[in-house]
Amino acid sequence: MDCIFCKIIKKEVPADIVYEDEKIIAFKDIKPMAPVHILIIPKKHIPAITDIKEEDVELMGRLIFVAKKIADDLTISKQGYKLLFRVKEHGGQEVNHIHLHLIGGAPLFEDIHPI
Ligand code: AMP
Ligand code: ZN
Repeated sequence: MDCIFCKIIKKEVPADIVYEDEKIIAFKDIKPMAPVHILIIPKKHIPAITDIKEEDVELMGRLIFVAKKIADDLTISKQGYKLLFRVKEHGGQEVNHIHLHLIGGAPLFEDIHPI
C-alpha cells in the first residue's frame, strides 16, 4: 500500500520514533508547528476518523492515552497542549492514515476563528 505512515510503521521510511507498542507508534512531525509536535498513529491503516468502526473504539481511546503519556514524559502536561485530528478535505487532512497531532511546548494561537 502506498501510504507514507504505513511505510514508517514497517521501517521502510525513517522517522524519529518516540513511542512504539503492538498497536500504536508515535514519531516527530517532519514539519513541526511548535517545539513539541508528535504524530500518534494506529498501526492499523484507517484512512480517516470517518472510517472508524465500533471495533476501533478501544484503539482510538488508547491513541489518546498514549498522547497523554508522551506529553507527561516530555513534561508539557502542566502547561497544556493541543490534540488535533484533521478529517478529510475540509479538515485539512493531507495524509490518509489516521494521526493524532500532539502539539505543545509553547502557547498556541487558535487556528480557527468565530465566523
Ligand atoms: P495532516 O495535515 O493532519 O494530514 O498532517 C500530516 C502531517 O504529517 C503534517 O504535519 C506533515 O508535516 C507530517 N508528515 C508528512 N510526512 C511525514 C514524515 N515522513 N515524517 C513525519 N511527519 C510527516
Ligand atoms: Zn497507512
